[in-house]
Amino acid sequence: MAYSKLVGAVCAAFMLAAPAFAQEYPDRQITMVVPFSAGGPTDTVARLVAERMSADLGQQIVIENVGGAGGTLGAGQVAKAEPDGYTLLLHHIGMATSATLYRNLAYDTLNAFDYVGLVTEVPMVVVARKDFEPADFASFIEYVKANGDALTLANAGIGSASHLCGMLLMSALDVPLVTVPYKGTGPAMTDLLGGQTDIMCDQSTNTAQQIKGGTVKAYAVTTPERLALFPDLPTAEEGGLDGFEVSIWHGIYAPKGTPAEITGRLAESLRLALADEGVVTAMAELGTAPSPAADATPAALQAKLESEITRWKPVIDAAGVYAD
Ligand code: ASP
Repeated sequence: MAYSKLVGAVCAAFMLAAPAFAQEYPDRQITMVVPFSAGGPTDTVARLVAERMSADLGQQIVIENVGGAGGTLGAGQVAKAEPDGYTLLLHHIGMATSATLYRNLAYDTLNAFDYVGLVTEVPMVVVARKDFEPADFASFIEYVKANGDALTLANAGIGSASHLCGMLLMSALDVPLVTVPYKGTGPAMTDLLGGQTDIMCDQSTNTAQQIKGGTVKAYAVTTPERLALFPDLPTAEEGGLDGFEVSIWHGIYAPKGTPAEITGRLAESLRLALADEGVVTAMAELGTAPSPAADATPAALQAKLESEITRWKPVIDAAGVYAD
């Protein structure tokens, strides 16, 4: 066989042997599970990036809301899904805290998933129903300390971001509030607006528009610095609550065993979405920003998850409050 023919035959054989997904993925709709209700902050972030990623991938990414058990039901559903790139999970810090909070979790957090990349890190804001009595954060602290067991605190279940923030608040004020769990802080916000609950601590992606509209009262942010969006709002630290610092990172995961070509392709698409001006502007209006491109990678998300499990484990163990 002539040399050129031989080279051609070898190339053809190689192409036949090469996995079809590399050329074809994605050739149909992708499902992105959000482990909380529609209309909440995680859902908002997912819909923002999914729309831009869909445009790049040429296939629709459809959001499926699987709320319940602080995000662990949705994560569990994705852990069991086919690792073919057609089922993804967009979750937040709860992926790390639930690994300690749930001692009988249905999946092994560090071994059940592959990684796509980090999406955004979102500040939290302590808010209350709009007719809540205290006028500022100092009087909020006094009032909550004096009336704690008569006040309700909404959250999205054990393992959620709002649960974590509520835990930090209760321990900083040394007062137990009556917690009211929801399948997500979308519905929790509806009840707060209706005055059925008193207090909530939630991502700015759910609270910013309500604060601007004056439909909730805002008291403090949980970041080390004040937010550009609400420069008058003090940080929890400024209010004297030492160590009360948390921001809610979000990442996209795939079931363990998803080919690296696919998670790599998704990460590339994620980076494009995060650089999109429309996404940057929408996030800024919600008090946040896309993760830098260097963090929108499988390796960066894996490192973040591992370090956050290590960070929160001693805090949760010290609090001694588990889901089971
Ligand atoms: N913000 C919620 C939480 O507390 C979840 C959500 O509805 O996005 O984890």
